[in-house]
Amino acid sequence: MSMRHVSVLLVSLVAAVVGRGGAQGGGTVKVTDGGTQLNDATWECVAGHSIAKRKITLDSGARRYTFQISGCQDPSHEGKHPCAEGNLGMPEPVADNWYWGGFLRVLVNGTDATVCDIRDLRVTEQGSRGAFQIVWSHPDAEVGLRLLMLPGGNHVLADFVWKPTPGVAVQSIGLQLTCYPSFFTAARHRQGERHCRTPRVDQAQPTTLTLDPAQDTYLYYYDAVFDVAAGEGDGPCAALVAPAGVAGGRVLIGDYAVQTELDLKPEAGEARLAFYDFAGLTNAEAGGYLKEHGAGDLSELEQMDFRPEAVRALNVEQLRTEALKLIADAAEDGQALEPQVRALLDKLGELNTRATAGDWIAEADMATALLDSEDLLWRLRAFAALNSP
Ligand SMILES: [Zn+2]
Repeated sequence: MSMRHVSVLLVSLVAAVVGRGGAQGGGTVKVTDGGTQLNDATWECVAGHSIAKRKITLDSGARRYTFQISGCQDPSHEGKHPCAEGNLGMPEPVADNWYWGGFLRVLVNGTDATVCDIRDLRVTEQGSRGAFQIVWSHPDAEVGLRLLMLPGGNHVLADFVWKPTPGVAVQSIGLQLTCYPSFFTAARHRQGERHCRTPRVDQAQPTTLTLDPAQDTYLYYYDAVFDVAAGEGDGPCAALVAPAGVAGGRVLIGDYAVQTELDLKPEAGEARLAFYDFAGLTNAEAGGYLKEHGAGDLSELEQMDFRPEAVRALNVEQLRTEALKLIADAAEDGQALEPQVRALLDKLGELNTRATAGDWIAEADMATALLDSEDLLWRLRAFAALNSP
């Protein structure tokens, strides 16, 4: 392989890794991490306690979703972080639909993982895709959630994984999803008509819809009164539910909140969903979208590789071969950089072993290590080009 070819390979690898090459014009996803803010508890917990909140926004160019991770930091809760309405909310695009205060709980053996210590929370990629991950340390299992958008996408793809704590059995794992379709009816003293429609059935409040995971692959939540077409409400919302990880479930269609309970298969270790907020769309438009695109979006969700782009693009052995060749070509400048480069390669090798075993934190650490070493690799390449005979 020619020197030029090697350099081009490394440059393209680094570009892919840092997402710089991202599809300019072909669309990108912007990810904004607002960092942790503290406020004194009002509604969230006991007066005098300190509440941590962090907002992360995924913007596909077509739709913008903000997630809010909240929890009380007071040590009196002994490793738990309660927050009155839940720990993971979706305040954008609108406060209703997927509920801003808390739309998701993950129940492991009956207790909520999202209230437990967060072991990892970080943006894992932006550019040609946008994603972040949360890893919760529940006493019985480590629970991971990755949320991802594609450029131009109108929904957020979600991957849940769980790994039992050694010596502990996960007997049950479930998701609780809360939405207020289109309008906060009861709070505003209005009466709506909540519905949940799947590819199989459409049921209206008040009822409990028993789900058939094989057929009920999308759940479309709308309100027949609060329809944008009638000049009422914000528009509906929906979820995709990939059948693979789901044993069953039910939708409690109330006259205010609509609560969806999904019983996951403990042995599956993974479940995939997607969330849509159709704010601004009429019921007919949103329903029509799901009818036309629901199956395609489901197939995309099922096939999605949720690993960070840096990890997907990286071949550690190939990088090692290329980097060692560059060190040789860079002569004395290469020798000077060699310890740093070898340390990077060793670190990536070690992280790669853990990542291959499904360790999400190692995967994210790989992405971070590659970003941090961007400058080192560029210098090495430049010296190689200059000093190569
Ligand atoms: Zn508290």
